[in-house]
Amino acid sequence: MAGDPPAGDAPAGDPRGPAARLQGSRCSGCSVTVYPADDACPRCGGPADPATLSAQGTLWTWTVQRYAPKSPPYRAPADGFTPFALGYVELPEGVRVAAVLDVEFSEVRIGMPLTLTAGDGVPRAHREERP
Ligand SMILES: [Zn+2]
Repeated sequence: MAGDPPAGDAPAGDPRGPAARLQGSRCSGCSVTVYPADDACPRCGGPADPATLSAQGTLWTWTVQRYAPKSPPYRAPADGFTPFALGYVELPEGVRVAAVLDVEFSEVRIGMPLTLTAGDGVPRAHREERP
């Protein structure tokens, strides 16, 4: 986006910065990328190196979580559970990442562009910010 600083220059905590990007891993043999990161490749068993994943992807599929997930590990917010959209965001690397969708249910569309950020435990996805 014009006017935005390059991601490498964003301060820590800035959602555009590298600290907010998901950390996966990439196989040094067959180049398969996975999330979450793993020391070994799930395809060929070879060693995998840490890899910062793309922030932009497209929605592959989604659903609505209408009841509170099992706790722990889920922690309900102080004001109680409210249903939320949950989906898989497909990244250019070919990996699909499960994420909470910060999008109105009525506006969610398979294939829509989304931006992923590392959330508090679970990745979150939101629409591209418009200028
Ligand atoms: Zn591999």
